[in-house]
Amino acid sequence: MKIGVLALQGAVREHLRHIELSGHEGLAIKRVEQLEEIDGLILPGGESTTLRRLMTLYGFDQALAESNMPIFGTCAGLIVLAKDIVGEEGYLSKLDVSVERNSFGRQVDSFESELTIKGVADDVEGVFIRAPHIADVYGDAEVLCEVEGKIVAVQQDQYLGVSFHPELTDDYRVTAYFIEEIVAKHQQATA
Ligand code: GLN
Repeated sequence: MKIGVLALQGAVREHLRHIELSGHEGLAIKRVEQLEEIDGLILPGGESTTLRRLMTLYGFDQALAESNMPIFGTCAGLIVLAKDIVGEEGYLSKLDVSVERNSFGRQVDSFESELTIKGVADDVEGVFIRAPHIADVYGDAEVLCEVEGKIVAVQQDQYLGVSFHPELTDDYRVTAYFIEEIVAKHQQATA
């Protein structure tokens, strides 16, 4: 399958590498027209305010609002996917969750944790960098993982959002899960 990584800001190369390690083809997406070439899209981490501004500037907000393409958001990408952001307005509103930014406290800017992720594995290394957490889950969103009592991974149909950065380790199982479980099943269902 061909999976795009939104390449306006953030950790793009690392995601492309995980897509390739999963045995699929990756494509850096810079223009909305390229969305037609891919089966699923990854929204990388970075800085969500900047990411949103650039997505609007290049028309990705509208293009993705009209699309039902599977999307995997990591960290800032999760914030962009959420219906509600504490203290701000939601953006793509694809995931029925409320996220709180930078919510693991200033004193722990970043940390790593071994995660049990439903459907993936019980030993996934999670790298958290000024990470958001999922404060509330509603509708059909399903919790896949919690750390320190905070929700850090959710899935709703063809949308997957995680607070951490799977692409910063060599463990590509979360990306493989997105492609092989979510994108593949979405294709079968819509074929
Ligand atoms: N703190 C960033 C934000 O709120 C997200 C950080 C990240 O993507 N690593 O946008």
